[in-house]
Amino acid sequence: MKIAVLGTGYVGLSTGVCLSEIGHNVICIDTDEQKIKSLRQGISPIYEPGLENLLIQNAAAGRLLFTTSHREALNGAEIIIIAVGTPQMEDGGANLSYIVQAAKDIATNLVQSSVVVIKSTVPVGTNDFIKSIIEEHCNESVSFNMVSNPEFLRQGSAVMDTMQADRIIIGSENDEAAKKVQEMYRPLNVPFILTSIRSAEMIKYASNAFLATKISFINEVANLCGVVGADVKDVAKGMGKDKRIGEAFLQPGIGYGGSCFPKDVKALLHTANLNGVHFSLLKETVAINDFQQELLVTKAINRLGDLKGKKVAMLGLAFKPETDDMREAPSIKIARSLTKLGAEVVAYDPVAVDNAKNILGDTIRFASTVREAAVNADAVFIVTEWKEFRLLDLKTLMTTMRRPIVFDGRNCLEEDRIRACKKIEYYPIGRPAIV
Ligand code: NAD
Repeated sequence: MKIAVLGTGYVGLSTGVCLSEIGHNVICIDTDEQKIKSLRQGISPIYEPGLENLLIQNAAAGRLLFTTSHREALNGAEIIIIAVGTPQMEDGGANLSYIVQAAKDIATNLVQSSVVVIKSTVPVGTNDFIKSIIEEHCNESVSFNMVSNPEFLRQGSAVMDTMQADRIIIGSENDEAAKKVQEMYRPLNVPFILTSIRSAEMIKYASNAFLATKISFINEVANLCGVVGADVKDVAKGMGKDKRIGEAFLQPGIGYGGSCFPKDVKALLHTANLNGVHFSLLKETVAINDFQQELLVTKAINRLGDLKGKKVAMLGLAFKPETDDMREAPSIKIARSLTKLGAEVVAYDPVAVDNAKNILGDTIRFASTVREAAVNADAVFIVTEWKEFRLLDLKTLMTTMRRPIVFDGRNCLEEDRIRACKKIEYYPIGRPAIV
């Protein structure tokens, strides 16, 4: 099939590359000339394990092209996938300006009948709205049908998640269009869920809101464990073995971040408010997350007192491991709180430093190794659970720091290793401190 993908971000690029890998002829369009230039040279503008190799192979095989021209990309496309951003607006609602522009770009360049798929995360009713925009601007001789096909990939494992998805949601009011999209994905051999457009749109938000709530729930349990002397690691394990609960998303920490959970939870709340539904559970999910992101700073004040002039080595900047994405990363809030309190922050991350410099460049310093960040530090904050941090050489770390105090926001250090390294003071989340 000939497929056009609008947007070469985390979702669009992963989708385009994987669809070419299963044999389709894919052309990816982006309005960002720099991105297209780098993609044409076989360089992925984002860090995503395994993606660049597949990109190079499929581009070399002639199945994967990149352009800034909507006209070129849409010519002959049987399926057009919209994967542009839907960031958060001030009022919490989703900003649909990119998707509206994408709809106009499609409408004015559509020269044959096609299926228009919205993969971006959009509030209920958006597919209908976008359909009306395309209808308004397109040539009367072309016909098209909409399919809502929300994406569930996780950054850091986008290729695997696309190739081995748990399910593919296809929301449509037109059987032929739904079948066409099923046909596109058929080689993946993944279960399909066929539904209406509005239900498909809602499935995405309800899924993300549920996962965010699960995180906030275990974080509250962790905070209680910390007070009553229980160990959240054992509690989560004991809970997770119950199949009705499941083990995933029961790791306590300093809250969720990233380009999806924060904005999607708020967008769902916004939809609920607009429709007079009081989704109070979701409001608490957000409030708990805000509290959780300040937790390491509170713990540091409790231990070190006034943070003015204290040096904090921040290990990890990306919102999670295996990505360079800094959108809504808890590290941003933590770094800003620390500097506001007069602390000096030196941060290290294996891949996110360049992106972090755009956000925190004026506020903190950056190091190119853990050791460099930790020199003379009064405390280490573990903010992202990169594998490199799990395997830290604790003895060297301890001798590098001014005071060997570690606040582990991801509970990623093993207890035995800390105990073996006698002098470390270790403060995890929801587990007894080791002092
Ligand atoms: P992104 O910001 O990384 O990429 C969006 C891209 O679209 C940018 O490169 C931008 O230049 C391009 N673009 C904007 N307008 C365009 C137009 N008119 N024509 C062509 N290109 C255009 O976004 P993302 O993280 O890939 O997310 C895309 C959507 O998928 C969002 O709705 C998001 O909520 C959803 N989603 C994201 C993830 C994730 O992990 N990032 C997972 C599931 C769903």
